[in-house]
This record gives sequence, structure tokens and C-alpha cells, in this order.
Amino acid sequence: MGIEAGPLQAQLLAWYAQHRRDLPWRQGAGPYRVLVSEFMLQQTQAERVTPRFTAFLQQFPDFAALATATTADVLRAWSGLGYNQRALRLQQIARTVTAQYGGDLPSNIADLRRLPGIGPYTAAAVACFAFGAQIATVDTNIRRILQRLVGADAPDSRLTERQVWELAGAALPEGRAADWNQALMDLGATTCTAHAPDCAHCPVADLCRFRRDGRSSDAPPAPTHRTRSKSPQPFVGSSRYYRGRVLRVLAALDPGAGMALPALGRQIKEDYAGYDATWLEPMLAQLERDGLVALGDDEGEITARLPEG
Ligand code: SF4
Repeated sequence: MGIEAGPLQAQLLAWYAQHRRDLPWRQGAGPYRVLVSEFMLQQTQAERVTPRFTAFLQQFPDFAALATATTADVLRAWSGLGYNQRALRLQQIARTVTAQYGGDLPSNIADLRRLPGIGPYTAAAVACFAFGAQIATVDTNIRRILQRLVGADAPDSRLTERQVWELAGAALPEGRAADWNQALMDLGATTCTAHAPDCAHCPVADLCRFRRDGRSSDAPPAPTHRTRSKSPQPFVGSSRYYRGRVLRVLAALDPGAGMALPALGRQIKEDYAGYDATWLEPMLAQLERDGLVALGDDEGEITARLPEG
């Protein structure tokens, strides 16, 4: 297992200079913009993130604005992106940064990893894109490309997570970490896609083991790690589906307003009936424990609203 770093770097960076995606978080990148974009991109595709990122930045232009906003306003701004706990964690970081770091996001990996919602990838990405650290990042796209470029000895075996990070580090061109990591991400998003790699137009096809082995038309194995792409689980009718619908309905209410549970049930489930309270109430209780919903009592009737926080 090895990587031809020199030709790979030259060919991919030349391609990136011509084909880089024009994404709003790459314009005037600063720590706050980078952090917001990385949180939004954790489980949502770039096309969906782009308009929401711009609107979010207009409403909350910096850590101070996000820290002092109500949680309800942050959840409203996040509504539709899904995985709403990302919004809570982002606001927790903003509050920590303003309270403990004088408003400046820490730049080193160890401090970043102590903040909520920041794992190995996000810490590396923020350190690289916001602070210029010369380090590799490994997200789903990069993991897939490295797997295909180099592969392991047996055609169907998977690189371990450690091998992938070692390869990513070995491939890193000196002084070009941000461009390099973004070039890999762009290749994965546009050309070396999960289910239909366009090897005929790939700038590194001559270096690719997957292509060389004649496997370009294979359906590649499903990723086994947390991804930025769609979940393989059925979504409609799932718990996540209904949790998302609850948040959307509550986000559409006037600020401070709540909704009684039967009315809420009918909004999120077409055939909602009285007995559905047996799943709606525990779900709302869990959402309250997660900090995403506030339950109250309005003249003897349970109501749900977004938490003001
Ligand atoms: S040749 Fe095909 S499989 Fe290999 S990196 Fe390029 S697009 Fe991906």
C-alpha cells in the first residue's frame, strides 16, 4: 500500500485550479465562518447548505451574536437542515468562546476537540481552513478517494481508519494543505462520487488502483463511517423524520408561541389519532431532554414550543 504523492499532488492541484467549487464559506474564510460551514456540512450536502449558510451568517454574523441569541431563534434559523442538535452545539461553542476565550475560537486541535460537536475531522478542518494548519483532513469523500486510489491488498478489503489518516498525511503537499484538502473534497463531490465515479474525466485516473483494476463500474461498498451523505436508513416514517417535522412546525410558530400536543400531532402525521399520543409524548419528552423543545402546561393542556434558552 502506498501513494504516488508527487504526481497525485501535481495533477489534482492543477485540476482544482480549474474546477474548484465556488462555495460561500470559501470567500473570506475566518474561524466563525469555517466553523458554521463545517457544522452545517457534517450531515448535509453542500447544495442544501449554501443558501442556509448565507442566511445564517446574516442573522448571526459572529460568535457574540450567536451566543446572545435565543436558542429558539437559532433553531428557527437552522430549521430544514436537519440534525438540529448541531445548532445547539454550535451555540454552546459560541457561548464558550465568548465566555472563556475572549471571543476567539482556539486554534489548536486539543482545545478544539474539547468543544461540543467537534470530532477529529472537524477539528482538523477548522485548524486547516481557519488557521492555516498544514494537516490532513479525512471526511467521507476523502476516505472514499483514498480507498479507491490505493486500496488494500485484497480487492474488497477496506483501509482501516488509521491507514486512511496515514495516507492522507503522506499525500499532503507542503504548504498547500487548505487547497489540497478542498481539492480532494471537490473531486469526491463532483467526480469520484460514491455511486457513479466519472473515471473518464478524473484528473488522477492514471494513478488510481480502482480504475486500473477495472472496477470503475462497480457499485462501491457502502461507507462504514459517519458520513456527510444521505443515511442508508429509510427516512420517511423514522423517528428522525418525525423529530424533524416537530422542529419544523414549532419553528414556524410566532416567537414564544406553543402548540397543544394533539394539534402538533395532526401537523406532523396525516392520520394522527388519539392513541398516537403514546409515541408522540415520549418523543417530545426526549426532544426536551435533548434541549430542542420546551414542554409547558397551558390551562391543563400540555404544549410544546422551541426553548427560549
Ligand atoms: S479514477 Fe475513478 S475511482 Fe479513481 S479517483 Fe478517479 S473517479 Fe475515483
